[in-house]
Amino acid sequence: TELPADPNEINIPRQVEKACFSYVTPKQPSNPSLIHASAEVANMVGLSQEDILSVDFLNVFSGNAVYPDTRPYALSYAGHQFGNWAGQLGDGRAINLTEVVHNDTLFTLQLKGAGPTPYSRTADGFAVLRSSIREHLCAEAMHYLGVPTTRSLSLMLSGDPVLRDILYNGNPAYEKGAIVCRVAPSFIRFGNFELFASRNDLVTLKLLADYTIKHHFPEIKSEDKQKYVDFFQTVSQTTLDMIIHWQRVGFVHGVMNTDNMSIHGITIDYGPYGWLEDYDSGWTPNTTDRQHKRYRFGNQPNIALWNLYQLANAMFPLVNDAKPLEEILNDFGTNYKVGYLNMMRNKLGFKTTKEEDAVLIESLTELLQLAETDMTIFFRNLATILKTDSAQIAFDKIKESFYNEKGLDESALNNWQTWLGYYIDRINGETLSDDERKELMDTVNPKYVLRNYMAQLCIDAADKGDYSLLNELNELLKKPYDEQPENQKWFAKRPDWARDKVGCSM
Ligand code: AMP
Ligand code: MG
Ligand code: MG
Repeated sequence: TELPADPNEINIPRQVEKACFSYVTPKQPSNPSLIHASAEVANMVGLSQEDILSVDFLNVFSGNAVYPDTRPYALSYAGHQFGNWAGQLGDGRAINLTEVVHNDTLFTLQLKGAGPTPYSRTADGFAVLRSSIREHLCAEAMHYLGVPTTRSLSLMLSGDPVLRDILYNGNPAYEKGAIVCRVAPSFIRFGNFELFASRNDLVTLKLLADYTIKHHFPEIKSEDKQKYVDFFQTVSQTTLDMIIHWQRVGFVHGVMNTDNMSIHGITIDYGPYGWLEDYDSGWTPNTTDRQHKRYRFGNQPNIALWNLYQLANAMFPLVNDAKPLEEILNDFGTNYKVGYLNMMRNKLGFKTTKEEDAVLIESLTELLQLAETDMTIFFRNLATILKTDSAQIAFDKIKESFYNEKGLDESALNNWQTWLGYYIDRINGETLSDDERKELMDTVNPKYVLRNYMAQLCIDAADKGDYSLLNELNELLKKPYDEQPENQKWFAKRPDWARDKVGCSM
């Protein structure tokens, strides 16, 4: 813990030694206003609908006032960015307000974009409306999809302009500043452990590990070195589960640096993320990663493992034995294969397991890339295939999902027919009826996801002060698996203008 002598010096960027966090004070916004709050998240942490509308809510969650008897802080952490060691990073624009226990559950409330901290380095500590909308909408959408994630309590305007490097007519452009309050058990990342290991500060490393296990992993009852191994095992498992969910819904994180990996195995840091529209394992939404595509869709499991290696290295001094850590890392690959196969079987509506499923699934992912196939529409339409359908009828049902049907040559068309023929055989070998299978498939294949262009439309409107689409999308995405016939317009292929439009994190 760092206790600043002079409160005015609190937020000056610096290297912070032997401390897991620094006390900071959020910057008071000029003219805060609430754009949107999630009633469900408020409830989860013990706040009512009335609370949301109160002046206190506005003040506390915009950083205008510090809640009595709390002391906000920013965490120190390090990380590997794009595979390279980046040294100390830390909460540069995130400020933890406090922790609350409600219904026996511990939550940390954190503002994002509430001003500089000792970890802001050369940046300003603020966030713009654009990126804050993306975080607020997507975090909640992910939760309702059943993907482990940080939650988003509120979205506020600060009333202050923020300078970003987007140029309009050659001039630097100011954007509206915004503040999101996100909620998670904690915001501890792989990078928090890496920081102290890299400095060989084993005292603080142990302090952090012991604190983390005691407060956030009380189910770990083992002692001494074993408890760090058990902790690592838990992080590996939850990380693996999270990645399988990402692959299931077509979410591409875009910046899987180790400082963006939560020890709770929850999705954190909604920056340049994106959703697969046409299924493409090589796609990344991150325009700064277009050359190496390190964080492409198909590479997310490998990167998760790579990141776990970095966490294992950081934990090693506490365990002093590589073997148990290596065993866990070795299991990751095998467990991923099994978990992925089962997840894909669910997407295809299989209850039984067959040896040849692996081949069927692999050839499907190849076929999906032939004619730019919309992943979401494909799997929803696949669920409408009947056991009695011919391959041709089945093809007619899924072809709506192609962006480029004309790109299919004769052999590609034949391959599709062959695959669908196998698929129809396969579902005929199952005991589920067509209705039962569809019902099952519709619980794992979302009908509505936050397509990149939807977020963009919402941002453009919000920038003009129109939040109706924000509210609409927020409601839509609370029931991503429901039919919602009144919202059919969002169950549609991305329009042409939105091809390869991606969001930006800064
Ligand atoms: P990210 O790529 O968003 O995960 O951020 C990497 C590091 O940069 C983290 O330490 C962030 O806190 C910091 N950072 C990103 N944006 C800002 C900002 N606008 N002001 C201060 N720090 C930032
Ligand atoms: Mg980050
Ligand atoms: Mg970020």
